[in-house]
Amino acid sequence: MKIISRMDAKLDGLKRYYTGQPCKHGHDLGRYVSNGSCVKCHYLYQQANPGRVKKWRDRCYLKNKEKILARNRVYYKKDYHANKERYKGYMVKYCSENKEKISARKKRYWAENKDTENAKRRARYANK
Ligand SMILES: [Zn+2]
Repeated sequence: MKIISRMDAKLDGLKRYYTGQPCKHGHDLGRYVSNGSCVKCHYLYQQANPGRVKKWRDRCYLKNKEKILARNRVYYKKDYHANKERYKGYMVKYCSENKEKISARKKRYWAENKDTENAKRRARYANK
């Protein structure tokens, strides 16, 4: 691994840096720029404390929900156009496996939005 200081890694936009020194537990894998923690120690901590990691993720998600959703939307759009066939395959698979779930959802939607949907239909026919 190439030795790079935390500051240089940060300036280069990297997520990790490597000092050449093992951490106090003897791991020699580099550290995260964001918090300075050893990559292996961080991984072991996450494995040992799934509840805490989930709590932290949930809190992060709530704090940055809009940003995350916007980023996902951009990513999904790009990915969808690049892999249309794959997505169609997913859709066909999902639909055939969840027929009852989908029809229940449709029924529920209609029950909840009967008036607005009927008004839309009426407006559509009235224009012709
Ligand atoms: Zn470590």
